[in-house]
Amino acid sequence: MTLRLLPGAALFTAVTLTVSAQVPAPANPDALITAAKRAAGTDYAGTFLRICVAPDNLNAGGARGGGPGPRAVPDRATWYAKPYKVFDNLYFIGTRIHSAWALTTNAGIIVIDTLFDYAIEPEMIEGMKTLGLDPREIKYVLISHAHGDHDQGAALLQSRYGAKIVMGAADWDATLQRAASVPGGVPKRDVAVGPEGLKLTLGDTNVDVIATPGHTPGTLSYFFPVKDAGRTLTVAYSGGTAFNFPRQAANFAIYRDSQRKMREVAEAAGATVLMSNHTEFDRAYDRARIAQLPRATGEKHPYETDTATVLRYFEMAGNCAEAQRLLVQ
Ligand SMILES: [Zn+2]
Repeated sequence: MTLRLLPGAALFTAVTLTVSAQVPAPANPDALITAAKRAAGTDYAGTFLRICVAPDNLNAGGARGGGPGPRAVPDRATWYAKPYKVFDNLYFIGTRIHSAWALTTNAGIIVIDTLFDYAIEPEMIEGMKTLGLDPREIKYVLISHAHGDHDQGAALLQSRYGAKIVMGAADWDATLQRAASVPGGVPKRDVAVGPEGLKLTLGDTNVDVIATPGHTPGTLSYFFPVKDAGRTLTVAYSGGTAFNFPRQAANFAIYRDSQRKMREVAEAAGATVLMSNHTEFDRAYDRARIAQLPRATGEKHPYETDTATVLRYFEMAGNCAEAQRLLVQ
């Protein structure tokens, strides 16, 4: 008798779970922030702090690229980082604070983000040479968004090496309005990516460029393959993070929708690596160095997680944006 009752009990449990899963997510800021905190876990605690606990919409002056005239160069000891080979085909050429990467293919190099002007020669150019890469092989430069901490190297890589600059169409519009005297100079308009995104192919490597407006109107994010001792992993590269844009509900809605889009593509692509363009958001500076250490058999690359962990990043960011959208309405 007892055994016969079990299937019914199991069915009842299943029905209960299905019903509870259909309850819509509570749409109030506190519940969204709690959900974001749970999604962040310990993997994205710093990012959660920056965009959910203490979102800062106005403190972006230092990062914007449009300011005129020369700037004071910070003490090198505060930002210089050695370059590192991190995956078989991906090299860290960033600072302690900002990431720049060289993605190698069998038909040249794709550079992803380009740092402040003072870091371009010591980190990117010298860094590539130290790692045995020839900057003349740079074919494309992907700019995640037009703020000075990521785009001031674009004009130099374009004029010196003939690299094609890929940027969101809206961020090209902002870039081309800058004075010629801005740090790093102004690149000429090259590849402009609209809302439909872009499939970029160089030799054997495809980069899926996704339009993710929010941080700036033309922010781009990427999916691309990296190889870890010959094994291919898919990277989801989030191109803009902080809420330092005008604090309006419509802007948070745009940001939220971009995170939802990234979550969908990341799930479909089976991404297991989450990268950002600030080392505080993906621990690039630490992971690049940890990647140099020998690994035990079966031990994962320091950047490799699993798809569920990657998806939690975009759930967190989307929930944080939605919480702020409700708060400013
Ligand atoms: Zn920015």
